[in-house]
Amino acid sequence: MKGRVSERVYYEEPYLRSITARVVERREAEGGLLYAFDRTIFYPGGGGQFPDKGTVGGKEVLEVFEENGRVYHRLAEPLDCEECLMEIDWERRYLFMKMHTGQHLFSAVLERLFGWKTLSASIQEEHVSVEVSTPKVPWEKVALAELEAFKAIQENRPVKTYWLAAEEAKRLPLRKLVDVGERVRVVEIEGWDYSLCKGTHVKQTSEIGLIAVYGTDKVRGNARLYFRVSAPALSYLQEARAKVKELVSSFGMEEERLSDRVSQVVAEKRRLSKKLQRLEKSLAEEKIRELLAREEGVILEELDFEDERALKHMANALLREKRAGLLYSSRTGKLFLSLPEPELEEKVLGFLRELGARGGGRDGFYQFSLEDKALLQRLRAILEPSQ
Ligand SMILES: [Zn+2]
Repeated sequence: MKGRVSERVYYEEPYLRSITARVVERREAEGGLLYAFDRTIFYPGGGGQFPDKGTVGGKEVLEVFEENGRVYHRLAEPLDCEECLMEIDWERRYLFMKMHTGQHLFSAVLERLFGWKTLSASIQEEHVSVEVSTPKVPWEKVALAELEAFKAIQENRPVKTYWLAAEEAKRLPLRKLVDVGERVRVVEIEGWDYSLCKGTHVKQTSEIGLIAVYGTDKVRGNARLYFRVSAPALSYLQEARAKVKELVSSFGMEEERLSDRVSQVVAEKRRLSKKLQRLEKSLAEEKIRELLAREEGVILEELDFEDERALKHMANALLREKRAGLLYSSRTGKLFLSLPEPELEEKVLGFLRELGARGGGRDGFYQFSLEDKALLQRLRAILEPSQ
């Protein structure tokens, strides 16, 4: 293999932060110079894991990728060495190794505990996400999975990687069988997981440290879990604690009673909203009487109602009495219109559409969003000369 394919040192020695390598190919390409070496510690990406960053011969590596079985390193400047010192951004790579191995373990836990298969996985700079074969993930199950993963981390299980003939690998209880050619690379978390993977992994589960799920959502009818691994997991828990402490102090109570107190506040808010709705409804009835008692002319009124349905109700009442009216909610920026006469209807709608205001309606009743309140004055100026 040597000579034809550059040696990928990261397979056997993922902990190597620097190495010297000899240039075996150099060519100019779009966006910089491409170099291949007799060996490399730069992971070219794949399997949901980012490529490495770092330097060669002191020059920044802009990109690493694989092409025709070779690993290429894109540099902005030419190298002035034949045997060059390669250095990877170790802190970043090591975090990826922990996140990626953490993902193997967590996927295995989710499958063993609940039968949820991992359909896809992605690793970002700070978080990992997996799509699993279930429509919903209850938080109680998330907690169980985190605990099970934590136990496997504490047991400090070895993570082994080895190459096998594809036929031979098929006899292993692989979590996911993928078509990968004659020889496959097995990643085994002792007692937990066998996967085929060409990424970089830690050697012992204790290095993963901690896995903490912080969110879930839906994708293609499946659930997706978002989690953090290692130090970012701890940061997440610390941030969550800070938020709880802040809530506790703003409610002025003990932490244990927080969720009871929040439920009380929510129930109270619901009760008050209903009460306010009733009050606004009778206020709206009164307002309608007052507006209809006014002299002829277009009614233009700015109102501050919590519930904008009251404005809608009022505009409809004006329309029934064939009175033209523009009711503006200063709270939401919504404009409700009663335009019983075709001439005025055309004029007002023309003006609003020219402004690009979003909205619509029919048969004299319309509603528009008017975020810029100054436009209301312009509308008034248009209406008033005709009065
Ligand atoms: Zn892997």
